[in-house]
Amino acid sequence: MRKRIVAGNWKMNTSQSEGIELVKSVIEKSIAVPKAIELVIIPPFTHLNEIVKYAKGTSLNVGAQNCAEWSKGAYTGEVSASMIKSVGATYVIIGHSERREYFKEDNRLLFRKIKEALSNDLIPIYCCGEKLDERESGKYFDVVEQQISESLFELSHEQMQKIVIAYEPVWAIGTGKNATSQQAQDMHAFIRATIAKKFSKEIADNVSILYGGSCKPSNAEEIFARPDVDGGLIGGASLVADDFIAIAQSF
Ligand code: PEP
Repeated sequence: MRKRIVAGNWKMNTSQSEGIELVKSVIEKSIAVPKAIELVIIPPFTHLNEIVKYAKGTSLNVGAQNCAEWSKGAYTGEVSASMIKSVGATYVIIGHSERREYFKEDNRLLFRKIKEALSNDLIPIYCCGEKLDERESGKYFDVVEQQISESLFELSHEQMQKIVIAYEPVWAIGTGKNATSQQAQDMHAFIRATIAKKFSKEIADNVSILYGGSCKPSNAEEIFARPDVDGGLIGGASLVADDFIAIAQSF
């Protein structure tokens, strides 16, 4: 059975002390979440080491929001996958739309980052999703297919089994306007079929595909009820412990 995951991307929010208070609150409330749901906290880099310490011995997993495409060297300001691994984090987001948009990260660069993450034993959460004009012009399946094929199709079968995918329509991120559960289901099923065609049905059936984009307690239940939706990548609502936990309880 596929893993069901609810991951909170804090983006560039919280001071370290605010982050610690937030994670303590999430840990305290997480006892209300069934063990079968995997919770992941994804704070800014500066908080990773400390948050991992708080998460130790709890059911919480910790991830980073990005990693470098290189393993080490003279790349001022970059953080490598091995550094992330060395503080005890286990996940890394690759290809968030904000990285694609503001830092011009493209599918081929993201492929290199995914390989770097995998060779350091991190689980990549690979983000894909169309922009508003691509949704409106009806090109959304083509856009997502290209994001999947250019970043994932050169992985081995074994590597592909370690990938988590997040479908995040850009028009839904931080806008308060979520995709309908039908729009999410249609795209998740399409992504799964695309993976099945290239790799195998078994691999596709086992890949967790999360939905992201204005997911909140009021809409999570309907979205998570869809058969190809295996959880959520949560932005704004993950900064409020009660909301994050309520979303995780929505399965
Ligand atoms: C995100 O940034 O991954 C995200 C889904 O943000 P929000 O939940 O705030 O739309």
